[in-house]
Amino acid sequence: MNDPKASGAPVSAQVRARLEAAGRRFHANDNIAEFIREPELKALEDEVAERMQGVLEALVIDTQGDHNTRGTARRVARMFLNEVFKGRYHRMPPVTEFPNAERLNELMIVGPITVRSACSHHLVPILGKLWIGVLPSERSNLVGLSKYSRIADWVMSRPQIQEEAVMQLADLLEARLKPEGVALVLEADHYCTQWRGVKDETHMTNSIMRGAFLTNAELRREFLQLVRG
Ligand SMILES: [Zn+2]
Repeated sequence: MNDPKASGAPVSAQVRARLEAAGRRFHANDNIAEFIREPELKALEDEVAERMQGVLEALVIDTQGDHNTRGTARRVARMFLNEVFKGRYHRMPPVTEFPNAERLNELMIVGPITVRSACSHHLVPILGKLWIGVLPSERSNLVGLSKYSRIADWVMSRPQIQEEAVMQLADLLEARLKPEGVALVLEADHYCTQWRGVKDETHMTNSIMRGAFLTNAELRREFLQLVRG
C-alpha cells in the first residue's frame, strides 16, 4: 500500500490520496471538508503558509526587511482556508429545516444577498448580488430566511465560475428544500477584468430556473419583475 502519511508526505498529499481513493472530484469549487480530519486543517494552513512564502520569495519580495510583508504568507493561508475559500475546507453551516406545516405555496423571494467569491482563473474577487426565488410544495422543507444567505455564502466562498456557482447553489437548494421550483439571479462584478487588462465585460448576470419556474411563464415573470423592482 502506498500510504502517503507513512512516507512523510505533506498533509495536502494525504487529503488528495483520500479523495482519489474515493473517486471524488476536487476541482476548485468542490467542497472537500469530509476528507480533512479536524487537526489537519491547521497542518494544511502551515503547509499553505510555507508554500505562499515560497511564492513571495519567487516574486523577489524581501519579507524579512519589509515589515508589511513579514506575515503575509501566514495571513494569506488563513484567509484562503478560513475565510474566502472556507466553502471548500469547512462543512456547510448547520441549517435547520422544518416541514411546511402551513402548506405555504406562495412564491418566496430572498435578496438581494451580498455575494463574495473569487474567479477560479485568477483568484481575484467576484462581488455581487443574488436573489433566490422558491416555490414551496406541501412536501417541501423550509429554512429560516437568514439561512439562504449562509448557504449561498458557503457555495460562493470557493474559487468559482459564476455559471457553475449558480448551478451548484440551485442543486443544493433543490436537494435540501424539495421545492416545486427554484430560481436564482446573480449579478456580479468580476474584478479580474477590472484589475487586470479589460477584455470582457466586467458585469455579468446569470439566472437559473428550475421546476415550476421553467414550466410556468407567469411565475417566472413575477419573480423577475420583483427582482428588478
Ligand atoms: Zn479571472
